[in-house]
Amino acid sequence: MTIDQDFRPFCALTIAGSDSGGGAGIQADLKTFAAHRVHGLSAIAALTAQHTRGVTAVHVPDTGFLRAQIDACFDDFRIGAVKLGMLANAEVIHAVADALEHYRPAHIVLDPVMVATSGARLLEPEALDALRNRLMPLASLITPNLPEAELLLGHRVADGAAMQSASAELLGAGARAVLLKGGHLEDGGDVVDLLADGDDHGSIESIRHPRLAIDAHGTGCTLASAVAAGLALGRPLSQACIDASDYVHRALRGGYRPGRGDVVVLDHF
Ligand code: PLP
Repeated sequence: MTIDQDFRPFCALTIAGSDSGGGAGIQADLKTFAAHRVHGLSAIAALTAQHTRGVTAVHVPDTGFLRAQIDACFDDFRIGAVKLGMLANAEVIHAVADALEHYRPAHIVLDPVMVATSGARLLEPEALDALRNRLMPLASLITPNLPEAELLLGHRVADGAAMQSASAELLGAGARAVLLKGGHLEDGGDVVDLLADGDDHGSIESIRHPRLAIDAHGTGCTLASAVAAGLALGRPLSQACIDASDYVHRALRGGYRPGRGDVVVLDHF
């Protein structure tokens, strides 16, 4: 028997929160990386105790230990892309921004995680400025859903036309590219995500899928880590976003209920 020990140069790092229920956060990110055949690294910025009925506790380790995890990853691996998820508070955001300014990875995908679908707060409201001022300018792409875009911009984004202008406004606010997710728009139509690319003169591209009547957990984490995996594999940004959106759509179709709550988690198998 031969053992396959080939060198895999493709690594991606997630800096995010852990979900004990395995549906979102670091756990979803690592499953997504594996499904893309990308070696997954993780630095755990926060721990959540949660199941399919909600978040029961949150613990934020000290930022010195978070930095040690990030340093260990950059010390040894060739990291093609970094995905940022739940960062909990401003102190964590500053620690992550310091580390990323030091290591300058080629691609950073920022999922500006703020509130879970269940309603649990995953970022302190006072940390919004730090996210906007420190991390947005470092990111190659930010992936807000509509409630997150509204918090970042400070106004409502109520329909498709408002989404177009909101994605342009987010570029104006310092993002290099924006994948604005339309899943929360309840207009009965397809789900349309908009990719606005500041490096391509602010061009806006629509990524469309039929709406599935599934209320799933971990879709945002999975989309952002699938984009990071695509970038680590060398795909151009637009292709990485289209592929990631397809990946989430397929994973939703195979979604299942692993616990006693109604929550559906994505199928990465
Ligand atoms: N838990 C953690 C650790 C997360 O990072 C996230 C989302 O990013 C969630 C929970 C929330 O997931 P959802 O809003 O899809 O339920």
